[in-house]
Amino acid sequence: TGPQATVVPVAIIGAGQSGLAVAWFLKRAGIDPLLLDAGAGPGGAWVHGWDSLRLFSPAEANTLPGWPMPPAADGGFPTRPEVIAYLAAYETRYGFDIRRPVTVTGVSRATDGAGLRLTGPGLNLRAGQVVAATGTWSAPVIPDIEGAGDFQGLMLHSAHYDRPDRFSGLDVLIIGGGNSGAQILADLSGVARCTWITEHPPHLLPDDLDGRALFQRARARAVALSRGDTPPAPLVGGLQSIVMVPPVRAARDRGRLVSAGPIRRLRPRGAELVDGRMVKADAVIWCTGFRPALACLAPLRLANAAGQIAVDGNRALDEPRLWLVGYGDWTGFASATLGGITPSARATAAGIAAACRLGAE
Ligand code: FAD
Repeated sequence: TGPQATVVPVAIIGAGQSGLAVAWFLKRAGIDPLLLDAGAGPGGAWVHGWDSLRLFSPAEANTLPGWPMPPAADGGFPTRPEVIAYLAAYETRYGFDIRRPVTVTGVSRATDGAGLRLTGPGLNLRAGQVVAATGTWSAPVIPDIEGAGDFQGLMLHSAHYDRPDRFSGLDVLIIGGGNSGAQILADLSGVARCTWITEHPPHLLPDDLDGRALFQRARARAVALSRGDTPPAPLVGGLQSIVMVPPVRAARDRGRLVSAGPIRRLRPRGAELVDGRMVKADAVIWCTGFRPALACLAPLRLANAAGQIAVDGNRALDEPRLWLVGYGDWTGFASATLGGITPSARATAAGIAAACRLGAE
């Protein structure tokens, strides 16, 4: 049985940008949520990005509810430390109750039916409503590629890439044709011999368009589709399009932003491409994306075979005390971005406030 559980009305798992946005709306509705975060400090996934990572649009397009992000000091797009500083200042400004580092390893139904139980090392909590805002960083995706087990070099996912120095002088395969792949290629191309593996030809945005253009076009499409209108054509490549941030542009201008095409299999010291070419590699960096980090919800048995949980808006269909925010379009249009999280955070907080009022009657 163990020690008596602490009881709170609302717990939020994750204090990254999504958890903070929900907390802001809850606080405005008079509810003080408890946020539990596995990280050592503020910033969510931004703590783990590479040193040269920046937002791909200006500060004003990346604002959480209530308090705008200050412009970048150098007039460009905000740097990773600037985003982390903003998130840190945001949580201090609103005085959220955040416990760190606390990892939730299990969410289950309380045996007496009253609320959900959250457990983990040193944690025994019961909450009336639970928000999952765990992001994706801790669930990197590495595709199953023949020969991967035999590769003898260094392998890592973009989630763990930080800076170019340790790849200096090496042959590096960068696998993945999205923004992570393009940015890491740009970062490394000055110090390493890089081969860029992409399944399809990468879609490079025109230089004068930034992340806002992708966002605006995708939003216009989503609105038109929801109204039954004819949507504007997607930008080629959609949200996978590569934003030509200055280092990526510079790599292109040096002739380095060139895809070698798709891979057939890895070899102990390199790769065989689909066109039959062999490429030497001392290191492989997988820039192959992430999936929602929902492992702690497994005891609720809500996920389908693809690992997704059916939702009505942000509320789990089969567990009305559970809310999911920030995981991408299935939990709200563009909700995995700073500029896109506000509508789903607002709706989630409104739903939780209504559920708390009902519970109090
Ligand atoms: P996170 O920021 O990942 O926060 C989740 C928090 O939950 C973390 O602090 C984590 O420690 C905690 N957590 C996870 N599991 C548990 C658990 N079991 N128990 C307790 N705590 C837990 N977005 C933009 O808006 N603009 C951009 O320009 C942009 N560029 C990007 C570039 C790259 C290369 C990448 C990879 C992402 C980019 N993003 C960008 C997306 C953005 O970084 C993430 O989508 C965003 O951080 C998601 O926020 P979140 O709060 O949902 O998750």
